[in-house]
Amino acid sequence: MTELLPNYVAGRWQAGSGAGTALIDPVLGTELARVDATGLDLAEAFGFARETGGAALRALTYKERAALLAAVVKVLQANRDAYYEIATANSGTVKNDSAVDIDGAIFTLGQYAKWGDALGEVRALRDGDAARLGKEPVFLSQHLQVPTPGVALFINAFNFPSWGLWEKAAPALLSGVPVIVKPATSTAWLTQRMVRDVVEAGVLPAGALSVICGSSNGLMDQLQGFDVVSFTGSADTGAVIRSHAAVAQRSVRVNIEADSLNSALLLPDAAPGSDAFNLLVREVVREMTVKSGQKCTAIRRILVPAAVYDAAAEAIGAKLAGVTVGNPRNESVRMGSLVSRAQLNAVRQGLEELKAQASVLHDGSQAALVDADPAIAACIGPVLLGARDADAAQRVHDVEVFGPVATLLPYRDVEHAIALAHRGQGSLVTSLYGADEAALGQAAVQLAASHGRVHVITPDVAQAHTGHGNVMPQSLHGGPGRAGGGAELGGLRALDFYHCKSAVQASPAVLAQLGLSGG
Ligand code: NAP
Repeated sequence: MTELLPNYVAGRWQAGSGAGTALIDPVLGTELARVDATGLDLAEAFGFARETGGAALRALTYKERAALLAAVVKVLQANRDAYYEIATANSGTVKNDSAVDIDGAIFTLGQYAKWGDALGEVRALRDGDAARLGKEPVFLSQHLQVPTPGVALFINAFNFPSWGLWEKAAPALLSGVPVIVKPATSTAWLTQRMVRDVVEAGVLPAGALSVICGSSNGLMDQLQGFDVVSFTGSADTGAVIRSHAAVAQRSVRVNIEADSLNSALLLPDAAPGSDAFNLLVREVVREMTVKSGQKCTAIRRILVPAAVYDAAAEAIGAKLAGVTVGNPRNESVRMGSLVSRAQLNAVRQGLEELKAQASVLHDGSQAALVDADPAIAACIGPVLLGARDADAAQRVHDVEVFGPVATLLPYRDVEHAIALAHRGQGSLVTSLYGADEAALGQAAVQLAASHGRVHVITPDVAQAHTGHGNVMPQSLHGGPGRAGGGAELGGLRALDFYHCKSAVQASPAVLAQLGLSGG
């Protein structure tokens, strides 16, 4: 029998009392480890984090907590090789794709460590300037932010077991809020291992970081008024979280990152063969294939001028044809597997749904796998679909196939293209490709309302841009409407979620004693 990975709660390692759920290598089909949360004393777990962890973190200044993040970075860097092995085994990803998860996490933590260091030796943050409350500046209102005296519960998705933890933990810990992470069961190993390494290194105060692997049963019930919950996953589970009594009745703050029908838009000025056209083709292929398309930010809809539709189909299809799929341990493989056979079935089912309204322009789904048994491995090659009537193909704007699948859609004019992008009902990101800066700027503003991020690619940033789907800590991650309405990252803005806001109304002499950031 494989190892039952213990949970870390209430300051000690605790095994679940059940048989556990097996974590499977999605390429080889073998069992890797088991996870179980049965029988944990959740009240004790949450109480310990809230009281012991919270008190220890709040006793520190922002600068001191930033040093904790820097120490976590060192621990993770020292164990990086082990993380790559786990990612290959449990997520089926090739090295470049594991890097997005592992090195992306380390980079994000490092960035918050730097920002936190600059906040200085303070325990409260200034929120805007003081405003006078009367004619004379003798009685003022100063908004400030302090850490919420609760716990942050993270319920995470299967596709980013590393980054998903640390992109949330960095602002939470920097804010002074202890973390309990519940990774998605299928890929929980990497999260559990990282927490284990950090705990064993002793770099965080007791109670600052806990991990619960396995069932989510009862977690939400533990949440109290000053706690927060940050959820990443499907819209259906997001709705369950939102309607839980903790949120509905106890006002627990909730951040939801759900699914998203992201788009890429080629502007009318970009003819086939132009730099902008080639940049779109490159980015679409990258987005379809990185992590086998299992990225919440991946391009699902490709909007091109009607006159360019055939050329775009051909260019994207030609590049996809060169993508080798199979065992990520084989050096010749460019794209590994999906996280599970269940996910493979979901992708196949989603493809059938889309095919009812779209035709197949490139079909990699039947291609031979490298070094992998198609009866066992959760691998599928990329599939490009196309719908010549972009308005009629409603499912393409509705159904998120969480795999290497995207649909090409022609538009009449920019207005039509923007209307089609909005049909996603709120997305995490859209990317624009063109050389006409004025047209790009106008389109960006029009798309901002329905997108958390607008990524504009002109030929002059071909080498410098950070990628449509790459979530940088400097920029907001989240999106309105269907995308869940969440707001993560975006520099120090991310700390807002873990803070309580208050307006202190007092004389300038009292306000000077508050010890706020920035003097
Ligand atoms: P999921 O099935 O909704 O699961 C997400 C998490 O919720 C898992 O940890 C899951 O635990 C837990 N969960 C399930 N039922 C729950 C309940 N009743 N109460 C509390 N927690 C519960 O989603 P997924 O299949 O893992 O993730 C894929 C989806 O996530 C995709 O739709 C993708 O678009 C979205 N996603 C969004 C973002 C973003 O930032 N917007 C990022 C990544 C992924 P178990 O694993 O134990 O069931």
